[in-house]
Amino acid sequence: LVARMQGFGTTVFAEMTALAIRTGAINLGQGFPDTDGPAKLLETAAEAIMGGANQYPPGPGLPELREAVAAQRADRYGLTYDPDGEVLVTVGATEAIAAVILALVETGEEVVVFEPYYDSYAAIIALAGGVRRPVTLRPDGGRFTFDAGELRAAVTPRTRVLLLNSPHNPTGTVFTREELEIIADVCREHDLIAVTDEVYEYLTYDGPAAHVPLATLPGMRERTVAISSAGKTFSVTGWKVGWITAPPRFVRAVQTVKQFLTFTASAPYQRAVAYALREEREWAEDLRVSLRAKRDRLSDGLTAAGLTTFRPQGTYFVQADVRPLGFGDGREFVTALHERAGIVAIPTQVFYDSDAGDPYVRFAFCKRDEVIDEAVERLRRL
Ligand code: PMP
Ligand code: GLN
Repeated sequence: LVARMQGFGTTVFAEMTALAIRTGAINLGQGFPDTDGPAKLLETAAEAIMGGANQYPPGPGLPELREAVAAQRADRYGLTYDPDGEVLVTVGATEAIAAVILALVETGEEVVVFEPYYDSYAAIIALAGGVRRPVTLRPDGGRFTFDAGELRAAVTPRTRVLLLNSPHNPTGTVFTREELEIIADVCREHDLIAVTDEVYEYLTYDGPAAHVPLATLPGMRERTVAISSAGKTFSVTGWKVGWITAPPRFVRAVQTVKQFLTFTASAPYQRAVAYALREEREWAEDLRVSLRAKRDRLSDGLTAAGLTTFRPQGTYFVQADVRPLGFGDGREFVTALHERAGIVAIPTQVFYDSDAGDPYVRFAFCKRDEVIDEAVERLRRL
């Protein structure tokens, strides 16, 4: 393994899901729902396969999907993108993140990222030969946020990109307009490219419009590469259809890399996702409402079990501080949770450079109510 990938072993998600499968534990670790997306969406993919959509689609993505993505950004956020040149379809948000960072970050350039950060960010920044500059999110009034001074201090003359994930995995924070204004200020002032990971854009619990894309702020559209995907919105995390929307110069750069990573994304799923973006908005809204109830169900259960719970504003994860139960850190807790209660969760410290994440554990609540209830019941064994 090359030196720049030393230290990146198996992802914690794969590790924890394998553990759950091996031992039959309840898997509140890796974030994937245990129910399927809308039936008509699944049928559309099956029909696309049977109907012959089985050869390479165009490199930038099926025109039909690029149009659906552009229409979604316009209708939902008032952001207009040309489907031909400002939208690029990728193999999930994961490939989008990889292609964007590899296309835009030179060796030695810095990427500002909020910690805890999604695991692939660190690996891809390292692969690109870049340097991550973490800014820690800390609890403040029941949610995780950053200190503006620390954000400003993280920027240096070598900073090229600010990578923002909102709604934020794993803390569940949905960045407010005020927070985004501070971030936008920093980007404009230092001429940074903003890369926004918006895969949880529909999963916000304080109202359907709570997610504000950074690109909607003044002067930001021209410097923002926005990433999203279908996995969370339509409960098809295994389909791996994602996309970026950005000005043409960025899309051209990213496509140059993307064409040699995968060339193109899977044809039948692209067609199905185009259908869903157009026709399944109500289903996505129903999912949001149902997940809000699940958020409360699990958050209340964790609180009742004695953990300090940070009820999230978005995503399908809830973070909890394990110290009130007498555990030293999240890893110790996760081991006990598995051994005594048969539940798998994620020790959030793996998403930090600093030790600020040591006391936290992340639980996924995108599960059937009976699974959540069983988990809550078992938490009493701790
Ligand atoms: N970004 C974040 C913040 C995520 O939580 C995930 C995990 N689903 C991804 C990106 C990857 O998305 P995809 O499955 O579309 O590759
Ligand atoms: N995004 C999912 C999570 O945070 C997992 C994705 C993965 O397994 N890489 O749980």
